[in-house]
Amino acid sequence: MKINVDNATIEIPNFDRDEFKCSCCNFNNIKDNFLWKLQLARTEAQTVFRINSGSRCEKHNKEEGGKKTSDHLTGEGVDIEALTSAIRWKIVTAALNAGIRRIGIAKTFIHLGDNWNNPQNVMWVY
Ligand SMILES: [Zn+2]
Repeated sequence: MKINVDNATIEIPNFDRDEFKCSCCNFNNIKDNFLWKLQLARTEAQTVFRINSGSRCEKHNKEEGGKKTSDHLTGEGVDIEALTSAIRWKIVTAALNAGIRRIGIAKTFIHLGDNWNNPQNVMWVY
């Protein structure tokens, strides 16, 4: 898919915009700057990034127990499936190298966030 970053059109090979739509209503405000970082991470990690959750409407975010300031609401958060310690390591190290500064570690997924209105350089568990 094509994205626009700093007035340049860039082709990112490993994602499709539809992967990031809200699962209840197809709302999709995923940010191109964030997609660029995700692609950098994906290229380094060389493992599939299965998007469990991307953009969320207010209603769906509430249903998921997301915070009012959730990265998912602004199109700057994703949950990526990660089922093994090795995959978790690959995704987290590649995300850090791509400049992602908000990371949540769950048993079955990793949250990556790029909303600069939220705290930076944080890593939490669920
Ligand atoms: Zn929705």
